[in-house]
Amino acid sequence: MNKVKCLIIGSGPAGYTAAIYASRANLHPVLIEGPQLGGQLTTTTEVENFPGYPDGIEPFQMMDDLRRQAGRFGTQFVSGIVTKVDFSVSPKRVIIEDTDEYLADSVIVATGASAKYLGLESERTYRGHGVSACATCDGFFYRKKTVAVVGGGDTACEEASYLAGLCEKVYMIVRKPYLRASEIMQQRVLDNPKIEVLFEHNTLQLTGDGKVQGADLIFRKGEPDEQSRHIDIDGFFLAIGHHPNTELFADYLNRDAEGYIIVDGDSPRTNIPGVFAAGDCADPHYRQAVVAAASGCKAAMEADKYIKNL
Ligand code: NDP
Repeated sequence: MNKVKCLIIGSGPAGYTAAIYASRANLHPVLIEGPQLGGQLTTTTEVENFPGYPDGIEPFQMMDDLRRQAGRFGTQFVSGIVTKVDFSVSPKRVIIEDTDEYLADSVIVATGASAKYLGLESERTYRGHGVSACATCDGFFYRKKTVAVVGGGDTACEEASYLAGLCEKVYMIVRKPYLRASEIMQQRVLDNPKIEVLFEHNTLQLTGDGKVQGADLIFRKGEPDEQSRHIDIDGFFLAIGHHPNTELFADYLNRDAEGYIIVDGDSPRTNIPGVFAAGDCADPHYRQAVVAAASGCKAAMEADKYIKNL
C-alpha cells in the first residue's frame, strides 16, 4: 500500500499540468498514466494552437515535454489502469489493476473524454491520415480542400462552419432527414454556400491510397429508393459526440446526464472534498488542450489548499 498527498489520474494536458503545479508545491504527486499516454491530443498529427509553439509541435513531443517538466520537480509516474476507487473514506483509496493500492489525501481526476467513432474498419486505417475528430485541431491542414463532417448536432454544425472558413467545400453527412442542432446553428450551415448537407446518408467506408481520398455513402438505406453515392474528399471529421471517461467514479462523483463530472462553478471542486476534476472529463464545451491544462493548474492549486487545511 502506498500513501500519497496527491494522486493524479490521467496523462493528458490536464494531468501533466496538475503534476507540474502539484510537484512544485511539494505535494510529491503520483500520476497514473493510463493506456493512452498523452491523451486525446496524440490522435492528431500536429498541434499548432497551443501557445508557446510558434512553429507547431508534434503531439507526442509536446506531451513528452509536459511529462519531463512534471518529472523535473519530482512527479512519480506509474503506468497502469485504475480499476476501482473508494472516495467514501479519507484518505481516498485508488486501486490499480486490482492489485496496487494507493491512499491519497487528494485526488485529481483528469481522465479525459473519448470522441465517438462510427466503428468502420477504414476509419481506423486512416486515423491521423485524413480521419479526425477535431476540426479546430486539424482543420488547418485541409485549407482549400474538400472535407466531410459526420453528424447533425451542434458540434457538427460548428465544425462544418469552422471548416467552411478554410476549405473549398464541406459535406455534412447526416443520418436523419433533419439536423438536431439548435436553430441558429442549423441556419448558419444551411445559409453557407460552401456547405452541402447530405441528409439521410450513412458512411459505408472510406477509400484512398494511404490517406483519405473518398467516402462511399448510402442514401436512405433499406428504403425502396436506396442509392449508393461516392464523394471525393481529403478529410473526414467525426462530430457525433464524445463520452467522458468517468464511469469509474459513478458511485461517488456527481455527473451530468452525459457523464461529465459536475464541478463547483468554474473551480475544479467536485462534490467530494479532496477530489478535483480537470480537463475534458469535466468539460463538455471547450475540449481544448490549453483549457485542459489551465484546469489542471487550478486543480493542483485547490489540492494544495485542501491539504494545507487538513
Ligand atoms: P449530439 O449528441 O447533440 O449530436 C450528435 C449527432 O451525431 C446527431 O446528429 C446524431 O444523429 C449523430 N450521430 C450519433 N451517432 C451517429 C452515428 N453512429 N452515425 C451517424 N450519425 C450519428 O452531440 P454534439 O457533440 O453535437 O453536442 C453535444 C452537446 O453539446 C449538445 O447538448 C449540444 O447542444 C452541445 N453543444 C453546444 C454548442 C453550442 O451551443 N455552441 C456547440 C457544441 C455542442 P441523430 O440526430 O440521428 O441522433
